[in-house]
Amino acid sequence: KETTDFEIRRASGEGLLKDGDLPPAQHFINGSFQAGEPGEHTTLVNPATGESIAQIPMGTAADVDVAVEAAAEAAEAWRELTPKERADLLFEVAARVEQHADVLARLEAANAGKPREVADDDVAGTVDIFRFSAGACRAFTEMGSAEYVREHTSIILREPVGVVGAIVPWNYPLLMGAWKLAPILAAGNTVVLKPSEQTPLTMLKLAEIVADVLPPGVFNVVTGLGREVGARLAEHPGIALVALTGSVGSGQKVATSAGESLKRVHLELGGKAPVVIFDDADLGKAAEALRAAGYWNSGQECGAGTRVLVHESVADEFARLLVEQVSTLTVGDPAAGDDIEIGPLVSEAHFDRVTGFLDRALEDGATAAIGGGRLPGPGFYVAPTVLTDVAPGSEASQEEIFGPVVTVETFSTEEEAVRRANEVPYGLSASVWTRDAARSLDLPRKIDAGTVWVNCHLVLANEVPWGGFKGSGYGRDLSVYALNDFSRTKHVQINHSR
Ligand code: NAD
Repeated sequence: KETTDFEIRRASGEGLLKDGDLPPAQHFINGSFQAGEPGEHTTLVNPATGESIAQIPMGTAADVDVAVEAAAEAAEAWRELTPKERADLLFEVAARVEQHADVLARLEAANAGKPREVADDDVAGTVDIFRFSAGACRAFTEMGSAEYVREHTSIILREPVGVVGAIVPWNYPLLMGAWKLAPILAAGNTVVLKPSEQTPLTMLKLAEIVADVLPPGVFNVVTGLGREVGARLAEHPGIALVALTGSVGSGQKVATSAGESLKRVHLELGGKAPVVIFDDADLGKAAEALRAAGYWNSGQECGAGTRVLVHESVADEFARLLVEQVSTLTVGDPAAGDDIEIGPLVSEAHFDRVTGFLDRALEDGATAAIGGGRLPGPGFYVAPTVLTDVAPGSEASQEEIFGPVVTVETFSTEEEAVRRANEVPYGLSASVWTRDAARSLDLPRKIDAGTVWVNCHLVLANEVPWGGFKGSGYGRDLSVYALNDFSRTKHVQINHSR
């Protein structure tokens, strides 16, 4: 269904990209850009206009093999660096990203349809995770030594695992890449990274701007499809650990394939975050917070607060406040101004997926309190939407829509709220809204999610771990937990009896 609840602000004049912005449309292997095996290319499209931006090679298993060989060759020298030497190089990576912040943000906006505010935030987060990981690896290299057996000293070492394969999605092409790269490299590993075939530009640009910082082979990028390049990373015997941020289906395939070689697996998968609002909550603050947390990056966000469960006595009031907030969102082409808050969805295929969810939800009896469909073309725009009258157990209540859509359901008791919050296959994040001190301490323990926010949602910091339970995967990004996840533990026992 089409809606006119929002007007799309179109760009007049020049687009986002300037001459010289685009990185080479090639793989980045062993410190230089390479064409790789001759084969197919895919066209990258600006989702705000439908115009093509660049042609990117669809890599092959053979391209992955060349990159893994380069990463394996670079591994020994990289792991031999002292933590300070590695950290100095990673601080320089952060500095280069900061120097190129503008072009990285514009590439991301043009390729992924990101509002400038979101793209700038992604770049700032990228700088900070490199700085955090660089500092953290110096503070966190050895786990300790002690005499547990008389006249024997145990030394427990944390070592790199070797070559890591990293596979990242299109919703935060640079930032999700950086969440992998920074701790993987800081922990002393080398890496072959596959960006999403839809949004490889910022990772290739990163490779271009750090090509003279990191030694050849330490950081490699192979572009291409999941079923070809991603699948080879998951099965390659030379890769010790494969880390994927993506959908549940891709996570299952990667884990199954990695099982053949028993390589370690690190998975950050989908989410469907419940937002549990009690009758004692500050409803105005909750609605204001969801204006950002439900719709940031057009809702293409694994931690987005999209599944409101609100106490029945305040449900109408909350829905009214939320609609009021959502009605003020500014929709448009990211090139139309830095104040745009909601851009297009990333691709036509994803637009069809999200509008399909909306059409079926409305057929199932949900009500669009605002939005509820696509906005008139060109570009892949879906109206910011609040769905009420959503039936518990219905598709809209259970599945990750991954667009600017928040559903509102009601509950009557605290017990029911907890049960319903946990009755999705995901367990990435959740929030609880209450002014009751006991409840704010007790409820997070009962909710099956890797992150539980209280009286806020989507507030992140690089010092704290991020990752899920259940269908949302396992392993942690960010924080020293990520450094641990990308390391292996070794015990050395020394007999010093005389
Ligand atoms: P996707 O699973 O389609 O793709 C993710 C990456 O996996 C891409 O690079 C893709 O090419 C690759 N891939 C696909 N099939 C593969 C296979 N068989 N083997 C190896 N690699 C394969 O996901 P997407 O649509 O790009 O991203 C959206 C999903 O990512 C959502 O479900 C979202 O919740 C999730 N996500 C999770 C987090 C988190 O931190 N948990 C963060 C961002 C996005």
